[in-house]
Amino acid sequence: MTILAGTMQAETLNCPMCGAPAASDATACAHCGARLATVACPSCFGMIFEGAKFCSHCGAKVERTEVAADAPRPCPHCRLNLGAVLVGNTNLLECAKCEGVWVDVATLQQICDDREKQAAVLGMAAPLPAGNIGFENFRYVPCPVCQTLMNRVNFANCSHVVLDICTKHGTWFDKDELRKVIEFIRAGGMEQSRTREIAELERQRSLLKSDQTGALSAPVFQTATPPRYDGYDLAVDLVGAAINTLFKL
Ligand SMILES: [Zn+2]
Ligand SMILES: [Zn+2]
Ligand SMILES: [Zn+2]
Ligand SMILES: [Zn+2]
Repeated sequence: MTILAGTMQAETLNCPMCGAPAASDATACAHCGARLATVACPSCFGMIFEGAKFCSHCGAKVERTEVAADAPRPCPHCRLNLGAVLVGNTNLLECAKCEGVWVDVATLQQICDDREKQAAVLGMAAPLPAGNIGFENFRYVPCPVCQTLMNRVNFANCSHVVLDICTKHGTWFDKDELRKVIEFIRAGGMEQSRTREIAELERQRSLLKSDQTGALSAPVFQTATPPRYDGYDLAVDLVGAAINTLFKL
């Protein structure tokens, strides 16, 4: 893998449209604006420079085919219609302008089943309350399918990747976020997140115990259903704690 990356770095990268030199991690030509890199790795969903045969992130063989879209789906940010693409055997919709990627519910399940259990992934994504500290600059964006404003979710509470989710239709990943989430899962992030969550629930439980008899039901995040607003207050506490840690850096 190191050898592959080394080989690719040694190549001079030039824009296929205008010939201007380009950095190997550039996704668009600084000179003519042509698209230089696209999501093309079926293993890590990294963005790969046009024409490269192997992924510069993980070394996997590049597999990408553009296909016809079933229906017009506007990008939540740019409002351009998303293009359909087959990466390996995974169907994605992508925006040619902002390079964001839309993954429908079934496809995300398929992706995560390969790497970790779906229950752990979506079950632990907790909704972020509007106007939380540090998140004022984010705005809620509409689902490309139903146009309802999506929930903003800190993936697995501690991944530091914030996603937009329509529980009915799918998940929006800004540029390169899908690869970051895969990286997080592969680095054992889900396990870490579970450990933190259990510790936090234990803490909440003992607080409750000293307060009242109220027994907290089984961990609200560890279900196979997409995030719901049951247990919302607890979710807000947990997410708030994660965010405070994040922004105190
Ligand atoms: Zn160019
Ligand atoms: Zn890759
Ligand atoms: Zn876009
Ligand atoms: Zn929707």
